[in-house]
Amino acid sequence: MKALIVGGGIAGPVAAMALQRVGIEPVVFEAHPRAADGVGAFLTVAVNGLQALRTLGIEPSSLPGFATPRFAMHLGDGRPIAELANGPVLPDGTVSLTLERAGLYAALRDEAVRRGVRFAYGKRLDRVEGEVTAWFTDGTCEPGDLLIGADGLKSTVRSLIDPRAPKAEFIGLLNCGGYAKGLSLPGPPGLFHMIFGRRCFFGWVKAPDGQVWWFANPGRRVEPDAAELAGTDWRSELLELFRGDQTPAVEIIEKSHVVTGGWASYDLRRVPVWRRGRMVIIGDAAHAASPSSGQGASMAIEDAVVLARSLQSRPSVEEAFADYEQRRRARVERVVAHGRRNGSGKAPGPVGRALRDLMLPMVFRWLHKNGAEQQRWIYEYRVAA
Ligand SMILES: Cc1cc2nc3c(=O)[nH]c(=O)nc-3n(C[C@H](O)[C@H](O)[C@H](O)COP(=O)(O)OP(=O)(O)OC[C@H]3O[C@@H](n4cnc5c(N)ncnc54)[C@H](O)[C@@H]3O)c2cc1C
Repeated sequence: MKALIVGGGIAGPVAAMALQRVGIEPVVFEAHPRAADGVGAFLTVAVNGLQALRTLGIEPSSLPGFATPRFAMHLGDGRPIAELANGPVLPDGTVSLTLERAGLYAALRDEAVRRGVRFAYGKRLDRVEGEVTAWFTDGTCEPGDLLIGADGLKSTVRSLIDPRAPKAEFIGLLNCGGYAKGLSLPGPPGLFHMIFGRRCFFGWVKAPDGQVWWFANPGRRVEPDAAELAGTDWRSELLELFRGDQTPAVEIIEKSHVVTGGWASYDLRRVPVWRRGRMVIIGDAAHAASPSSGQGASMAIEDAVVLARSLQSRPSVEEAFADYEQRRRARVERVVAHGRRNGSGKAPGPVGRALRDLMLPMVFRWLHKNGAEQQRWIYEYRVAA
């Protein structure tokens, strides 16, 4: 069988490697040219995602990231609230890994290419005919036996499967980030500092080479359009937002050699239809979680591995797709809801902020005691189950 995989982000290359292992020939079609990789946002792959990669023979140590095992939570006035684990430590010492998104894309793609997977770049899916021929916007086409939509938040495959499929929802937060050099801040590398600032949320972590990686989440009631995002001087805007806080945010932003964003953040709570005939969606195309969940990449990896297992164990493509959906839907929808709750305290109004700052120390003291137990279901999921 030949699988057409649309999207060369995270879910696509992982699905390709997983399918190859069960005897299905994958081809990955990516809309962007390969050179589209660049400096950009970073993300964290949690231990559940890393364990899923391990089932394909990809070790966390082969990825270009660094361990981020703990969070130190603070308020904007500088008060520390609590220190929490960023997921569990596995028996072999594996913990959550933080890496540039482009670095993860490149590592997964390079490994897939090394294993013989074919990638075609500059191929934007336009439509699908019959069962199944993919047509691209450059007028070319490719026939296959099944088609996997790993084409992200604005998935074309999602709307080809169901023209009434919901669109991603703006969650009231933007995302900016950057990288700074030449700072001497306290604390060990890999400790993520998360700050509920007076006007904006700020996160920073020291990388092992001493650079500081950071992100900020300005709030917006109304979704900004592309022109507003592109036309904003984010460095100045962020400096203004953090001016009154007793935190290193201003110093970090001033010393940044790279400031990225802003992007609007979205999630996609429930996509009613994931599959039709020989087409199916995985990753953000099927269920996007807010960046605050820290699970989008891990969910995409899990989906890809589970889908290949279903295709291996079920007698027909249709039954395999149904099995995949049955194994994945409840979990991913719960993670998306969890991500939305995580993001909800990041940009409150003045009254909400006073209440938040009163409640947060209690909430985090409780989480410090019970958090590991409460979040076990996220991290202990194993794709082999
Ligand atoms: C700022 C930010 C921070 C984040 N932080 C985290 C984090 O800490 N932890 C975490 O786990 N997740 C995080 N995420 C989410 C994570 O990046 C996504 O969940 C993950 O990338 C989803 O992988 P995917 O392969 O499904 O989609 P994507 O990575 O979006 O890949 C989709 C690919 O499909 C291609 N494509 C789209 N349309 C077409 C088409 N018609 N034809 C061909 N190709 C097409 C795109 O060019 C893209 O390469 C963050 C996201 C953002 C934006």
